[in-house]
Amino acid sequence: MATTMEQIVNLSKQRGFVFPGSEIYGGLANTWDYGPLGVELKNNIKKAWWKKFVQQSPYNVGLDAAILMNPKTWEASGHISNFNDPMMDCKECKSRHRADKLLESQLDTDALERPIEALSFAEMEALIREHNIKCPVCGAQNFTPIRQFNLMFKTYQGVTESSSDEIFLRPETAQGIFVNFKNVQRTMRKKVPFGIAQVGKSFRNEITPGNFTFRTREFEQLELEFFCKPGEEEEWFDYWRTFSRNWLLSLNMKEDHVMLRDHEEEELPHYSKGTTDIEYKFPFGWGELSSISSRTDYDLSRHMEVSGEDLQYIDQATNERYIPYVIEPSLGADRVTLAFLIDAFEEERISENETRSVLHFHPAIAPYKAAVLPLSKKLKDEALGIYEQLSEEFMVDYDETGSIGKRYRRQDEIGTPYCITYDFDSKEDGQVTVRHRDTMEQVRLPISEVAGFLKEKIKF
Ligand code: ATP
Repeated sequence: MATTMEQIVNLSKQRGFVFPGSEIYGGLANTWDYGPLGVELKNNIKKAWWKKFVQQSPYNVGLDAAILMNPKTWEASGHISNFNDPMMDCKECKSRHRADKLLESQLDTDALERPIEALSFAEMEALIREHNIKCPVCGAQNFTPIRQFNLMFKTYQGVTESSSDEIFLRPETAQGIFVNFKNVQRTMRKKVPFGIAQVGKSFRNEITPGNFTFRTREFEQLELEFFCKPGEEEEWFDYWRTFSRNWLLSLNMKEDHVMLRDHEEEELPHYSKGTTDIEYKFPFGWGELSSISSRTDYDLSRHMEVSGEDLQYIDQATNERYIPYVIEPSLGADRVTLAFLIDAFEEERISENETRSVLHFHPAIAPYKAAVLPLSKKLKDEALGIYEQLSEEFMVDYDETGSIGKRYRRQDEIGTPYCITYDFDSKEDGQVTVRHRDTMEQVRLPISEVAGFLKEKIKF
């Protein structure tokens, strides 16, 4: 049976993956808190990304830039002008709309004296009244006044709330990378092509958040800005597209749940030479997990223009001087965590009248790598000894309550790939039973070999 979002939301809450935010106060819409298992899962996914995109990459290095940035950054990136929408609500059905889009869809805007972008809010409101513009949801002609709606979260730095102290929470991690381009290139003596990777929180005051952690106002991104020589961008665009997709598949994401979608020319901003989204087949439909964009020299050029700093790269070998082109693979940590959770979930029929619930995570991202289970409470001390030894190297669970069958099921439900059972024979032969989550097969292994076994199995 197909997995539903309701199943995933319930499972997340019941098993400690994701809780509704601020729950004891009745929650805060569309905020979610990662519980003990969720934080492990998400951290493991971020680590797996860092491993392939930074640690094992001959090209890339990492960065952790501040969330709060000089507001000029957002002027250069285009977020101040482009993230600004004139919003209004329908008074009847409370649906929210962009005033300029409503006018464009119901009016011959070419006939207007000036383009819509050049109109004041009062002028737009007058047009909406004169031309009986309707709410596309309920057909009413009764709107609130227009308000400026910027997707960026604004706050104030320091004690005064004047416009000169305005500051924004970053809507993407990318700009922290661009403003550090020279710092990184110089200190790390990097030669183009090279990339800078960053993982961190971003904030967008989304008009329509929803679908659990798919779209929230606070989220985490994994971004790489890869700098290459102009003319070589196509080759690198293909390289990072393939690399990004392979990364998902190497963590066992099902191939038929992943699709690459190239943007149409009309969807692209003027500076872009192409964007491919990697989409995942969520229970609510295909949705963007990641996007890989070929951004030309737009970002660095803009920062050069606005800051006055020379951000050109000098090729020491040829003395050539140029602004590198950028390929940007960008992935949402929360979206991809949700996708791995959905992808791993199975209600498996194991006999005529028995099912078990399993999360088939790749061992590298599973919250616990193993659970140590004494067959009887009388064996607690020896089992705890193994637990302590393993927990020096791995995230492991320990459970002594309930029948061994129930304990196996509990570990299946949270995706623990191996259960290690210490029984009465273990005292005699120094061996434990290792049970595999997916096959439910069991093997005997000397206690001294368990750590090495796990290390091998969780390799990524
Ligand atoms: P969408 O079209 O879904 O709004 P986007 O095209 O605006 O996404 P990008 O700006 O390309 O997204 O951001 C890169 C990645 O960051 C996305 O692929 C997604 O995984 C993640 N992301 C963006 N917005 C959100 C959000 N509101 N909540 C969770 N993740 C997000």
